[in-house]
Amino acid sequence: MEIPFLELKLLDEKLKEALRTKFASMLDDGIFSGGEEVDRLEASLFREFDSAFVMTCANGTDALELALRALEIGQGDEVIVPAMTWVSTAEAVCLVGAKPVFWDVDEDGLLGQDWHQAITVRTKAVIPVHLYGKMAYMDPIMAVAKDRGIKVIEDAAQAYGASLNGKAAGTCSDIGCLSFYPTKNLGALGEAGACVTQDSGLAEKIRLLRNHGQIIRGRHELIGRNSRIDTLQAGFLNVLLANFSCFQKTRKELAGIYLEKLRPIEGLKLPQEMMGEAHNAHLFVICTEKREALQAFLVQRGIGTVVHYPQILPEMKQFFQIGDFPNAGKLSKQALSLPLNPWLKKGEIELVASAVRDFFSNYQNEPA
Ligand SMILES: *Cc1c(COP(=O)(O)O)cnc(C)c1O
Repeated sequence: MEIPFLELKLLDEKLKEALRTKFASMLDDGIFSGGEEVDRLEASLFREFDSAFVMTCANGTDALELALRALEIGQGDEVIVPAMTWVSTAEAVCLVGAKPVFWDVDEDGLLGQDWHQAITVRTKAVIPVHLYGKMAYMDPIMAVAKDRGIKVIEDAAQAYGASLNGKAAGTCSDIGCLSFYPTKNLGALGEAGACVTQDSGLAEKIRLLRNHGQIIRGRHELIGRNSRIDTLQAGFLNVLLANFSCFQKTRKELAGIYLEKLRPIEGLKLPQEMMGEAHNAHLFVICTEKREALQAFLVQRGIGTVVHYPQILPEMKQFFQIGDFPNAGKLSKQALSLPLNPWLKKGEIELVASAVRDFFSNYQNEPA
């Protein structure tokens, strides 16, 4: 690919050097579990999240599982999950023994407004997902949840850096879950994640759960697990976090170029409200009925794209649920993510945009 969807080896040399320096100093320190780097990361995130408690953990999927366990959700309970999301959202629900109940998304891929129709006597929680980096409208979700006595866990894995009415993604609900998977906006050089909460009791519970229920060395109070963050990843994240606003600025600039160049195309749906604060420009997802042909055309031009996601969750056999999920289904057939990351140049974004324009003006009627 001349313009790959995402190649992490392309990150800039200055940043690579800072990461090498961090690794060298950590190798000299010899602390490979817990330690200062983890404390420093949690302290920095605590500031970023306006003094919410932040508990780092091994990855974003674990963050969801830890959140569910902290809220004591398990066997016999139901949790409402959007039909279009990354599998982790539903997987975590199953891993604690509860049942995901799927609800359709809106046209942007966010949990449909009428989700509360899925509430039953067994419903314990709902997990809105800030899909593609666009925040779900949390206030109405929180209001309904409070009224109906259920908990809200935000899957903010794709939305680090976004905020709505001054509240950061992850801090608008009972527990927010973050992922620092390498391809996310704040991505480590391996696996990592975190839970965020305003509730000190839940924070303490998550701290215990992620570390074998250990309250102080040698004293274990409950059955937890090992889901501590890797210290090396915490060290790398400390370097990456210091550069984060810079990456975000580039992402937004590049997204702005796409929006400008692609706006006049008929038959192409562009991402909504991407330049606003409530979107962190994680993925640039366009929708078209000609998705397969467009993707193949872009491959011929040396441009990599990805489908997020080709199958809706209720259609997967492990989660199977009968129901109508028209918007989720449409996204699974029409959504295509164009390359968007801070390691791309403006000229490359312009090339991708003009290739998309060429497709719609010249080639789309030709057989493949
Ligand atoms: C990435 C992601 C996760 C899981 O994060 P991992 O760190 O990969 O375990 C969960 N939910 C969504 C929506 C994601 O995109």
